[in-house]
Amino acid sequence: MSKMFFLDFDGTITKKDVVYAMVSKFCRPGWQEIGSRWEQGLLSTEDCANQLFALFDASTAEIDQFLDTIVLDNYFTAFLQVCHNHNYPVYILSDGYDHLIRYIFKKYAITNLNIYANKMVNRNERFFIHCVYKNPQCDKCGTCKKELLHRLKNITHQIIYVGDGHSDKCVCHEADIVFAKNYLWQYCLENNVRANHFHDFADIINWLNKHTTPTCINNSTIIN
Ligand SMILES: [Mg+2]
Ligand SMILES: [Zn+2]
Repeated sequence: MSKMFFLDFDGTITKKDVVYAMVSKFCRPGWQEIGSRWEQGLLSTEDCANQLFALFDASTAEIDQFLDTIVLDNYFTAFLQVCHNHNYPVYILSDGYDHLIRYIFKKYAITNLNIYANKMVNRNERFFIHCVYKNPQCDKCGTCKKELLHRLKNITHQIIYVGDGHSDKCVCHEADIVFAKNYLWQYCLENNVRANHFHDFADIINWLNKHTTPTCINNSTIIN
């Protein structure tokens, strides 16, 4: 069976959560409380981001300089190559900010990925987010991953979701296979979501090596 990947970005593809690192570096005191209210589901992503940006002191140049320090999972580009070889579509579903994602991917020469994220707007060096993929039925997400997954998935494919955090809670119930780490792993354990724990993308590549496309033996098809 062919596969289709939906990936979280912050802390999943990158070694650390870029939004969290950026906010903790550039926001004036008060950001922790806003962040924890978001984690508890008391604040939508849009309200949370705009409240954080009200406490934010950095220019585009300083943001870019900070983004240059961000590193991807050591095996992410190898993972993309495997997906490319098998023709498995890869979608990035992020409740973070598109500018950060595109900047980091560009640095790694990663192009042609389908990216769904909140738009970070720069108005004379004051920043805002615009939630382009908001779902009117959901009052929490900026980018509603659950709705996007349903909209983008191909029902003939096995749907695989990979994530690490709070913004992956709803969507992980919708995938056929889940890879989780950190907070999301804990969430899956506590909520009976069948998931595979992963450390880095090498684990997912190994899994793919064991579960690749159908092999034909004596006219019978074995689907792994
Ligand atoms: Mg994350
Ligand atoms: Zn949602």
